[in-house]
Amino acid sequence: MKRRASKLEVPPLCIYCSESNPEFFQGVEHVVPQAFGKFSDQTPTLVGAVCDDCNKHFANNGDLLLGRGSIHGVRRLRYGQTTTRKYPDRRLHTVFPDDPALGPLRGALASLRMIDRVIEPPALQLRILNLQTGRTEFYLRHDLDKLHYDPTIYGVPAGDEPATMQVRIDFANSREELEDFTELVRLRGVPYRSGPIESYKVGPAPYVDVEHEETIDDAYLQALAKILVNFAAKYLSVQEVLQQRWSAARDFVRWGKGELSFRLVESRECNIPGREPRWPGIIISLWNDPKGVIGSIKFYDGAQYDLLLIVGQSLRDDQLITYEFIDGRLPINLAE
Ligand SMILES: [Zn+2]
Repeated sequence: MKRRASKLEVPPLCIYCSESNPEFFQGVEHVVPQAFGKFSDQTPTLVGAVCDDCNKHFANNGDLLLGRGSIHGVRRLRYGQTTTRKYPDRRLHTVFPDDPALGPLRGALASLRMIDRVIEPPALQLRILNLQTGRTEFYLRHDLDKLHYDPTIYGVPAGDEPATMQVRIDFANSREELEDFTELVRLRGVPYRSGPIESYKVGPAPYVDVEHEETIDDAYLQALAKILVNFAAKYLSVQEVLQQRWSAARDFVRWGKGELSFRLVESRECNIPGREPRWPGIIISLWNDPKGVIGSIKFYDGAQYDLLLIVGQSLRDDQLITYEFIDGRLPINLAE
């Protein structure tokens, strides 16, 4: 059946890959990933602006990453969001605090069950300090093959030189399991000598506050930038983001080309004068900075990610927009 296009109908065009075949625009793209809520009958979506291929790509990558591998992905569960995912993505680490009273659990990798946010007894693990990043790396049995020992990165054990390597293995269920794991660690080139015998005793996880550590890499930034470009397409216009000045941001989102500068602002203050933050909302805004156009996403806890979307240009005053998204409610235009 042929349809006659009305004069008002805009032919579809993907803002990310330039696809224009109407057959490849069956789905709708959500501006705010669905894991973070539904916003009554005004859940912001894009129709005819993101093709099915790109939509699927985003759903399987950035949206999943934010929903399962970010601090906000876990925190949203506290506000009544649900998940069918048992454990978080590998890029999110949940660790016991750096408290000497915790014994071997001090600073250890915890095992977070996402469904009910219960901390399970920690799994058998290697902890090794990366001297270049200053951060402890954790390896479970199934990801030991990602470990490549290099003395300039991980230091050297005690010997002729003073020891700089800080490494330990904990939480085996038996001596055999400990020895087996230790052997695998040695096969990765780590000059590890067996630790104290009590290191394989494991009991129930104590009731303590745990800390989440997320990895902010390009994939993470792509996920955030996608929300911001979608947001601009929805609340400014699709024509706006199709302009050349958005191409660097669009290419970064879809193809990982180039890089976007960003900063993480850990603030519990609201940056809108005269307005108190009303958690649990996600606030998204576009604003001008001396460097260019900044897109900001502020999550439930006040952590705000600022991304430089356009370098050296600015938006008109009427394009500076801020919306708050609270699950179950209509989006709130904070500029009004
Ligand atoms: Zn596309």
